[in-house]
Amino acid sequence: MIRIESYVRGAWHTAGADPRPLHDPTTEAAIAECGSAGIDFGAVVTHGRDVGGPALRSVGFATRAGWLKALSQAIHERRDELIAVSARNGGATRGDAKFDIDGATGTLAAYAKLGAELGEVNFLPDGDGAQLGRTGRFWGQHVRTPRPGVALHVNAFNFPCWGMAEKLAQSLLAGVPAISKPGTPTALVAWRCAQAIVASGVLPDGAFQFVAGSTGDLLDHLGPQDHLAFTGSAATGAKLKGHARLIGTNCRVTLEADSLNAAILGPDVDTDADVWGTFLGNLVVDMTQKTGQKCTAVRRILVPEAMLDAVVEELKVRLGAVVIGDPADEATRMGPLTDAAALATVQTGMRQLLAVSEALTGGPERIRDRGYFVAPTLLLANDIDADVLHELEVFGPCATILPYTGDAAEAIRLANRGGGGLVASLYSNDKRWSEDVVLGIAPWHGRLWIANDKVADQALQPGMVLPVTIHGGPGRAGGGEELGGRFGMEFYMQRTALQGDQGFVGRRFGKPGSEPA
Ligand code: NAP
Repeated sequence: MIRIESYVRGAWHTAGADPRPLHDPTTEAAIAECGSAGIDFGAVVTHGRDVGGPALRSVGFATRAGWLKALSQAIHERRDELIAVSARNGGATRGDAKFDIDGATGTLAAYAKLGAELGEVNFLPDGDGAQLGRTGRFWGQHVRTPRPGVALHVNAFNFPCWGMAEKLAQSLLAGVPAISKPGTPTALVAWRCAQAIVASGVLPDGAFQFVAGSTGDLLDHLGPQDHLAFTGSAATGAKLKGHARLIGTNCRVTLEADSLNAAILGPDVDTDADVWGTFLGNLVVDMTQKTGQKCTAVRRILVPEAMLDAVVEELKVRLGAVVIGDPADEATRMGPLTDAAALATVQTGMRQLLAVSEALTGGPERIRDRGYFVAPTLLLANDIDADVLHELEVFGPCATILPYTGDAAEAIRLANRGGGGLVASLYSNDKRWSEDVVLGIAPWHGRLWIANDKVADQALQPGMVLPVTIHGGPGRAGGGEELGGRFGMEFYMQRTALQGDQGFVGRRFGKPGSEPA
């Protein structure tokens, strides 16, 4: 039995008591144990704050960028091993695993490039300077500096590599040491990734710590210069955000939670449009990639009534052709759900949705005697306004078609009923309709993905989270904002208004090239 270790205070730690078993979701065999008993979490926080932080901030962005580049390479070198372990721990197909691992190395590389551009300094000018006094001599300039605390990164189980790496990229480049806690169901994959990071020897002591299992009383040790960056369900996020110590100290908290992502087909699109194929292709990918365990996966499909039959017919064929099985088999396109708990939650959720819909494909029943397998489940809503369709995230291969009139106003109303989303996707060649929908749903979404015939053949899929554009969303999506290049670093930096002599404040801290005359 593999014993997953934590990496704390510069050493690997094996849990003593009460480890939690992890199972291969294809065979249900126990493969590893995970736990954090025996860790002194107060000392972990102090080690990061007092040892890792000063070491990170003793160099500038450009040097830290070089470290990120090296980490990206170190993880890439273990790509094949990570792909293999992702199949056994988590049920990821080769494609699913590459999505996670290459997402990790790509995001680290993107932040390495950004850091090299920022140069060997330790602050970022924020916006333009402004005249404050009677003349330009008394000047104001906002500046961002790295906060001298630690960052606790709590990650969801579904992206063990990418989730860890994308948070590390932003935090380490900003100059803030990280304590990374993976979702336990896929902690074996995350541990292999952490081993690559530690073995690379790239980072200074204390810059990276890894806690597999519970975080114990760690939150009780966070303070006003510290950070909690959480990814997971809205329910867990709300619980952590309400932690008395975090509230009492104004510890910074950002949440990336769940989302009832909508795909909206415009009323102008018929089966001849290029974007028609893009729409269908994306739906199938979103429902089946990572077995639907993707925060950005489509959950609600808004289809104009006139196109309903065509959409249903095509999706039934395409979903019926998806090869389900052992993720280690090359031919498999969709593997099992990650663990027994995920299976039970998905089955319960599907049954709740079926109270207001009918199943066009799949359903909540297991499709194999062994393993946590369900089929891609496409539902058709009987009542498009039923609350459960807009409130319950079934974190699996499940989405519901909501037939609507095709009016922009109705599309906006339905999309926004999700209460805040990570991403919504639009498919239309009607610019007027698209503009109305964009402006109507933008305040409720962190990202809008907009396809027409011009980009149908080259648009990256809406489920892809890119380092240069922000990820996050308002309301139930958590209210957080990650990535987006420099935006993602701002959480880890303090914005301070500098007011003083323009020759000092403007010249030393203003944007390069915008020095006052
Ligand atoms: P989860 O059950 O909410 O757990 C998320 C993380 O929180 C895990 O690491 C979990 O650890 C940890 N956690 C739970 N209770 C905690 C506590 N009291 N103190 C400290 N940590 C605690 O979510 P999940 O099942 O891992 O992930 C699926 C959910 O995440 C879905 O709802 C999905 O939409 C969402 N998600 C969102 C994004 C995004 O970027 N917005 C990305 C991926 C997933 P344990 O595993 O050890 O319990």
